[in-house]
Amino acid sequence: MSLVHAAMPDRYGVIGNPVAHSLSPVIHAAFARQAGDAIDYARILAPLDGFVATICAFFDAGGRGLNVTLPFKLEAFAWCGEQVSARARRAGAVNVLAMRGDAVHGDNTDGIGLATDLLRIARSTGLSIEGARVLLIGAGGAARGVVEPLLAMGPERLAIANRDVAKADELVRMFAHDASTRIDAISLADAGADGFDIVIHATSAGLANAAPALPQGLFKGTRIAYDMTYGAAPTPFMRLAHEGGAAVVSDGLGMLVEQAAESFAIWRGHRPDAAPVLASLRQSLNASLNTPR
Ligand code: NDP
Repeated sequence: MSLVHAAMPDRYGVIGNPVAHSLSPVIHAAFARQAGDAIDYARILAPLDGFVATICAFFDAGGRGLNVTLPFKLEAFAWCGEQVSARARRAGAVNVLAMRGDAVHGDNTDGIGLATDLLRIARSTGLSIEGARVLLIGAGGAARGVVEPLLAMGPERLAIANRDVAKADELVRMFAHDASTRIDAISLADAGADGFDIVIHATSAGLANAAPALPQGLFKGTRIAYDMTYGAAPTPFMRLAHEGGAAVVSDGLGMLVEQAAESFAIWRGHRPDAAPVLASLRQSLNASLNTPR
């Protein structure tokens, strides 16, 4: 009698701390259905002092790829050494790990994720990012990944504000040399006086359902206020932006789906169509909000 073994699905996951909020498993399951691929994608909570041990155990057990979320993107970059893409090297942050041959390779898809979604929103509002004044709030792993693609869109100014000012200064130093854009680190308290067309929120305060202390007048004249945080209900940053007069306010669900599509392409060799997955995710989040508990 011959036994036929069903092939085990390739294993992927998202690793972070916290990670329970992540919608990545739902997104990658949808991409896999679209492609007719069998994959297994899990949320993996790593101890704050146990990131490297956790990823090594995952890949040693045959895992094929990981998305890396907060607060581990810089540690993932350091762990990859020379095995990183050019864009991850320039960002100094890794949010995708992929098994290639017998080595793990790091990449960064946050930048393309944000750029794709922001361009979609800008197009729909008639705003050109070229020549715009942009404020980025936050200087963690996610912010690092988006600076280069933001600069590539040719804004007049990119200001970076972070609670720990030294980290904002470091980002400015990393990117100032090849920028024709004015790039500077500012105190968030001073940002209200400057006037920004686009304000991007990239701190992790949203995970605690909070927003950083924002100065009066920050959103006066703002065309797009973009929060990388996402969820069923508008985030505190989105509510403040709306109340402060921002014309268009968005969460980061589009960025999440776009960076995931790029990750899937790195792992599987084909890029899924992000639009229907984003639409269906948005619909289920809206439905969950309207369902009485
Ligand atoms: P990190 O842990 O690397 O960085 C955290 C950042 O948030 C730092 O700049 C930190 O400032 C700042 N911060 C944390 N708490 C506060 C607070 N209470 N007030 C002001 N600043 C604060 O996280 P990541 O950069 O990886 O992620 C940031 C956020 O972006 C997360 O919410 C994450 O979920 C989201 N994200 C969304 C993506 C998407 O696709 N939509 C993709 C990637 C990230 P300091 O340096 O002073 O500590």
